[in-house]
Amino acid sequence: MSAIKGKVVVITGASSGIGEATARLLASHGAHVVIGARRLERLEALASAIHAEGGSAVHQRLDVTEMDQVQSIIELALSRFGRVDVILNNAGVMPLSLLEALKIDEWNRMIDVNIRGVLHGIAAGLPVMQKQGFGHFINVASIGAYAVSPTAAVYCATKYAVRAITEGLRQEVGRDIRVTLVSPGVTESELAESITDDEARLLMKEYRRDAIPASAIARAIMYAMEQPAEVDVNELVVRPTAQLA
Ligand code: NDP
Repeated sequence: MSAIKGKVVVITGASSGIGEATARLLASHGAHVVIGARRLERLEALASAIHAEGGSAVHQRLDVTEMDQVQSIIELALSRFGRVDVILNNAGVMPLSLLEALKIDEWNRMIDVNIRGVLHGIAAGLPVMQKQGFGHFINVASIGAYAVSPTAAVYCATKYAVRAITEGLRQEVGRDIRVTLVSPGVTESELAESITDDEARLLMKEYRRDAIPASAIARAIMYAMEQPAEVDVNELVVRPTAQLA
């Protein structure tokens, strides 16, 4: 029997890309997926598609920058399924630009979604998992959590932060609760659409030519989940074979 069957998995940023692909994959293996993002119509369509295949999904509008909304989706999971096995802190934005462009609003949005969003997921989920005596945080960082490049200083800073927070969390709660960092390389998704800077957008188009499908990252996430409870996959970096840096 699949180790995924019956697991209750809350997924932030499930309306496209990696979050959506992971929801589909896990639901097809029998997980109950609790999917959140801001675009409600996308979530409705995804939940319907999962139901049509015989899977289990509930959805709720979610802005991870709002702590009460993150709390609320965890409560939805608890009220519908009685526990939370996994929180996939996946929501993220990547409006790249050179620092000299001074796109301060975009810097703040990356900090709010990519860092605060993950912290909100931890704050909402940790008391629940501690009470249960089990649980698994899977945080999505990036290869940008390991190296910095021009136009990506702030984005990489947020992902370095996610890596640091994830490692700290692992060290603090590791006895009963598993903690995994998944760091994708270039992956097909809508992520680059948040770039408003023309030059950065052009550079990214070229850089993103060799993208792997979002389902490749979904499989990495599922691999971490399906290990026995005493096995914690700490970090996974998954990039296209053709991507050297
Ligand atoms: P997408 O843009 O396709 O997905 C991002 C998801 O985040 C969407 O579902 C979006 O939904 C959601 N989101 C954005 N802002 C918020 C918010 N405030 N509250 C809740 N949800 C939000 O890109 P990816 O699938 O690629 O991104 C997923 C993660 O993977 C991100 O953390 C990203 O940094 C990381 N990553 C991706 C890489 C890639 O090449 N694709 C490489 C490295 C890391 P909505 O707009 O409906 O709210």
